[in-house]
Amino acid sequence: MTVTTRFAPSPTGSLHVGNVRTALHNWLWARKHGGRFLLRIDDTDLGRSKEEYVEGIRADLGWLGLDVDGEERQSARFDLYEAEFAKLQAAGRVYACYETPEELDIRRKILLSRGLPPVYERKPDGAPVPDGIAPHWRFRLDHDAPIEWTDMVRGPQHFDPKTMSDPVVRRADGSWLYLLPSVIDDIAMGISHVVRGEDHVSNTAAQIQMFDALGATPPAFAHEALLVGTEGKLSKRLGSLGMASLREEGIEPIALVALLARLGTSDPVEPVTDVAALVESIDFARFGRAPARFDEAELALLNQKILHHTGHAAVAGRLPAAITPARWEAIRPNLATVAEAAEWVAVFDGPFTPPAAEAADRPVLAAAAAAAPGIDWGADPWHALTGAAKEATGAKGRALFLPLRRALTGRDHGPDMGELLPLIAKDQAVERLSAG
Ligand code: GLU
Repeated sequence: MTVTTRFAPSPTGSLHVGNVRTALHNWLWARKHGGRFLLRIDDTDLGRSKEEYVEGIRADLGWLGLDVDGEERQSARFDLYEAEFAKLQAAGRVYACYETPEELDIRRKILLSRGLPPVYERKPDGAPVPDGIAPHWRFRLDHDAPIEWTDMVRGPQHFDPKTMSDPVVRRADGSWLYLLPSVIDDIAMGISHVVRGEDHVSNTAAQIQMFDALGATPPAFAHEALLVGTEGKLSKRLGSLGMASLREEGIEPIALVALLARLGTSDPVEPVTDVAALVESIDFARFGRAPARFDEAELALLNQKILHHTGHAAVAGRLPAAITPARWEAIRPNLATVAEAAEWVAVFDGPFTPPAAEAADRPVLAAAAAAAPGIDWGADPWHALTGAAKEATGAKGRALFLPLRRALTGRDHGPDMGELLPLIAKDQAVERLSAG
């Protein structure tokens, strides 16, 4: 069996972290098994679907490195849906309904008031058909076929179709609801595994009977627990947190991928720079049933950790030319984002005016300024510089190192000075030490 998964967004908005997580799990599963990952654009709702969102979805997947092995669009497949619908109709598995939403609502309330489950009540055979009303269509569940599957995340699932309403699959205007086209496509595209959020579990129960009715074996299902924000529910912020804003904040795609791959699983979130380890480790049996908590602060921290062992080659295209491999390696432990590297160009090459020195620090700076011109910049200049200043002034520890770091970099904290100083032009260093 070829593993084939699909990510099936409706292009009615931009992807947010929750959708991206589903896409990622589908992609990881396909890659782990040497299978195929398809993008299926669920654009049956022609009024709400927009081309700009389709383009945005492609761009976001590309940015994340989730390459697709094919793209399909539901709007190009209406003929197929029509043909399969006709078969179900001929077999009596879809049937016309004439109730108005108001009538259905009243029936639901009556049933509830009697303490009964508000399940749709089929009309008896031969019930009168109202004139001049276009019907909508329901799928006839087989009440005698219990619905069972072993979910890859949730374990054994069982639904009694008698307790379920026959789902509406087509509206009176002929347009499609999500349920049936999705099944038709999953069959036609050879989807082996459907990975999606647990909000689809009851859809799956109905869809399993649709697979059967269309003569197909249902795929395997993995329904993952939903993603929630730190405050415990799917917040507005999380629901709208798009890739563009994360990109602007300097989040690396691999950081988001590393977090979303493991969040809510029993595997630890790790600062990987390569997706291979995540492909290797994906296992739906290790996904938890509790909601996965997404924390932007955790993402920012992971991003930072990942940068600390990201090689120059991986980011060179986004770095100023002055940030050479050696300079990148010196500064990366102090970066929260790649963009911050640009702030270090002036520290290396100038122009740079050190902050005014405090009076107590002047002797150390003066001693260092006097020694600097004679120091061989190619051989551990920091050791030589601090040694000379210490000898001349008797200063040591913080009183020795901090004034020098401040004068040379303008900061109180930063990369190891032994690594940094040889990368700062000597004439610049001499100038900065003398400025105080
Ligand atoms: N378009 C559906 C959704 O976004 C797809 C669900 C599925 O994966 O089957 O919810």
